[in-house]
Amino acid sequence: MEKLTNRSVVASDKKMTFMERIYVPAILKGMSITITHFFKKKTTINYPEEKREFSKVYRGQHVLKRDDEGRERCTACGLCAVACPAEAITMVAAERKPGEEHLYREEKYAAIYEINMLRCIFCGDCEDACPKEAIFLTDRIVASEYKRKPFVYGKDILVEPMDLRVDISARQTSAVHDFKKNKAFAHNR
Ligand code: SF4
Ligand code: SF4
Repeated sequence: MEKLTNRSVVASDKKMTFMERIYVPAILKGMSITITHFFKKKTTINYPEEKREFSKVYRGQHVLKRDDEGRERCTACGLCAVACPAEAITMVAAERKPGEEHLYREEKYAAIYEINMLRCIFCGDCEDACPKEAIFLTDRIVASEYKRKPFVYGKDILVEPMDLRVDISARQTSAVHDFKKNKAFAHNR
């Protein structure tokens, strides 16, 4: 049959030599490679006793921020969910009732907000899409689990507690810090 390309390779069917048949040289060669690795610098560490230094912009577990008065910033607009390439975010919006002004900053809020951490690829698109500075990725690592269900993080995990707020300022550029100083944009602080 005529060849379609010249990339085909003819497999060799030559007989093995005596040394190849007893395998000892091949085993010794393999062991010598293994032994040389004993004296090389290790590429692994004893986690969790030892930890590597992360990049300042490492993208780990999300946080849903509150404002300085403790109100949830998220207004359940859904832009983060639309921007998410992994379709990891789901939410249910609710209307703020009179008397709940101290809980939610906007008239609409997320009654349910969930991120499936098994789907998330930690791209940060949700953070970029959010018009309310409500969601940020942090340097926290998503804890391992044995089952799938605990990886669906709800508001109980995502919303920051007021007594344990997550400082994300170190992750923001000087342009963002300048933006926040501008009184004209105070509505979005
Ligand atoms: S980090 Fe990316 S993949 Fe993860 S929830 Fe946000 S937009 Fe989706
Ligand atoms: S986190 Fe931001 S983008 Fe997502 S629903 Fe809330 S306000 Fe909208």
